[in-house]
Amino acid sequence: MRISFLGLGHMGLPMALNLVRAGHDVVGFDVVPAAIDAARAAGIPVADSGRDAAASAEVVITMFPSGRHVIDAYRGSAETPGLLAVAASGTLFIDSSTIAVDEAREAHALAEAAGHRSVDAPVSGGVVGAENATLAFMVGGTDEDFEAARPLLEVMGRRVVHCGGAGLGQAAKVCNNMILGISQIAVAEAFVLGERLGLSHQALFDVASNASGQCWALTTNCPVPGPVPTSPANRDFQPGFAGALMNKDLGLAEQAIELTGVDARMGRLAREIYEEFANGAGAGQDFSGIINTIRAESRA
Ligand code: NAD
Repeated sequence: MRISFLGLGHMGLPMALNLVRAGHDVVGFDVVPAAIDAARAAGIPVADSGRDAAASAEVVITMFPSGRHVIDAYRGSAETPGLLAVAASGTLFIDSSTIAVDEAREAHALAEAAGHRSVDAPVSGGVVGAENATLAFMVGGTDEDFEAARPLLEVMGRRVVHCGGAGLGQAAKVCNNMILGISQIAVAEAFVLGERLGLSHQALFDVASNASGQCWALTTNCPVPGPVPTSPANRDFQPGFAGALMNKDLGLAEQAIELTGVDARMGRLAREIYEEFANGAGAGQDFSGIINTIRAESRA
């Protein structure tokens, strides 16, 4: 397949590299020169612009920071037409960035109006998942477009789930990460409460991990050192999944909550808590570092 891979950052570069290794004809582009240099050094051919890369591609994959980046790149401007205008009719656009559900639907509508096919295909699994091709893809789009995208997603990931029509990949991502954000706070609060009550970390872990408190935030991302040696708490909360990214995703959850009018008080509160965390020490820490804020804010 001739693939244009745009956005060669933390996630995009290793994802593009896995497509190259699988034998695809990949041309990359990024707006940041350092990302271009890193891609070239890794063996990925780079075009002079995103438009050049997209013009000759059968598939255009985007891995950008936000929905605004995606829509602006699709649309372009009055002086410089965007990716949709330069791509050959019927090109498959795969957007793997994490963006709002309504932005994803807008991107689909723009692609369709320009005569292209598109899926939203956000990921979970982080940089390690991108490097090891073990990402989980949540995909929104028609059955036909999903089937066209699937073989490429299977090169970059281990699990590919068709969640429904346009935007429903992003819907699944935002719902999952809202569960994650809330549950990580719940686990952290329980450990701090246990500390105050004289309960050892290990005893709480041994009970909760085999009882109804069991969840990923406890058994994989345990916020205290010891019980799960691979969790970020054992390496001074180096991410993992940075507080800034959790704050971003909960911001998208909040947008979806507002759009739908759901009474999601825990989701909103989690957003408030991570916003404070990410604006302070937590931006570059794993989000499980929220336990330190809870300790610091607790009565002496
Ligand atoms: P990043 O900032 O490292 O990479 C994004 C890249 O896109 C940057 O290099 C930027 O220069 C480039 N870019 C922006 N506009 C562009 C354009 N018009 N043309 C070409 N390149 C452009 O971000 P990341 O960590 O790789 O994350 C990418 C997306 O994946 C985000 O939406 C993020 O929320 C999501 N995500 C990240 C992780 C993670 O652990 N990093 C996990 C899951 C999902």
